Amino acid sequence: MRGRSGKRPLGQYRLPTGSSIARAMACAGSVVFPHVRHAPGPAARRGTVIHKFIEEARAIGRVKALDNIKDDGIRNLCNAIDLNLFPPYLESEATYELDVNLQTARAIHIDKPRDYPYNAHCFYGTADLVGFSEDGGTVIVIDIKTGRRLADHARDNWQLRFLAVAAAAAHGAKDAKVALAYVNEAGDVEFEWAEFTSLDLADYMEELSWLDSTLLKVSEAVASGYAIDLAIGSHCDWCPALLNCPAHMDTMKSMDADLAATRGELDQLSPESLGKLYDRLSAYETILKEVRSSFRTMANSGPIEIGDSKQLRFVSNNHTIINSKKQDEFVQWLVANGPHSCLRVTLDPMATETLDKARELGFVVDAKLPTLRKVNKKC
Ligand code: SF4
Repeated sequence: MRGRSGKRPLGQYRLPTGSSIARAMACAGSVVFPHVRHAPGPAARRGTVIHKFIEEARAIGRVKALDNIKDDGIRNLCNAIDLNLFPPYLESEATYELDVNLQTARAIHIDKPRDYPYNAHCFYGTADLVGFSEDGGTVIVIDIKTGRRLADHARDNWQLRFLAVAAAAAHGAKDAKVALAYVNEAGDVEFEWAEFTSLDLADYMEELSWLDSTLLKVSEAVASGYAIDLAIGSHCDWCPALLNCPAHMDTMKSMDADLAATRGELDQLSPESLGKLYDRLSAYETILKEVRSSFRTMANSGPIEIGDSKQLRFVSNNHTIINSKKQDEFVQWLVANGPHSCLRVTLDPMATETLDKARELGFVVDAKLPTLRKVNKKC
């Protein structure tokens, strides 16, 4: 039976979206343990702006799309992107629902990016660009990447596999041509292409169906109190279940002893022990990064009371001076977040004249966003 659209029923999981399928294939825990959502970090926000530029530039033209970008650096990068590399017949931001139980798919409309409905046995995802060969027999899917280069190639990429299966099933195509389009810091775009035959697409559909039934079994095992196999690896970075992951929480138990071992005894350890210790230290860092990110997400909605007349708040110090393009953005941020910011001396939230003056005076240009700090309540 289908669930209610847009809601995650209590105690249930939802199937991974296209970009999380690879992690789910590696570790079911990433889906079935409760998720902790974080506000996107700087790299994700930057990626969103670049994606939006490519989408808007193809619809309203390069000049208008560039005007909508406030950050100088990202605008320069976008300005360097050769839009002719993305043929006009490709549609931007096409969202698909793939029902692996019925083995059918359809294009759907969503009101907000990544705001997918919830339906049993259905995977969801959005293709940055999708189109078809002239005879309609081949679906073409391009996924734009703006961060670090992925370890898996286009042929092995589960996001592309899912989108190819879904788009082909939705539109009656037989096979697929897919690409990862990497946009580097200079705005150069490098494509990595792969082709999927109809047999490949049928295999991927079967594997997604296997994932659906496996996740159901694993979820039932967890609900009954059984321990499940977890696979720690590079896919744990940004895993939304990390703070509820038993494997990582077990790892934390050895932190005290490991930190003690780093005080003067390192050269006594065997190479194997050093390697294991290094891996555990990396795991601690990953967990602590997640905890810090949770604090930042919480502070996004206001100061966090921490007792002793202190709060955690986002603070801009008086060394942060912004250039003319960043000024609007910064002032907008202040208007939206002013009550939670703590500005001192030279930067009053609305003091645009002060900012102009500071610029004239040649202060250092720095676009850093405010940092989370422990401050006195009165500050
Ligand atoms: S943090 Fe890693 S091991 Fe734990 S649930 Fe997520 S992917 Fe699995």
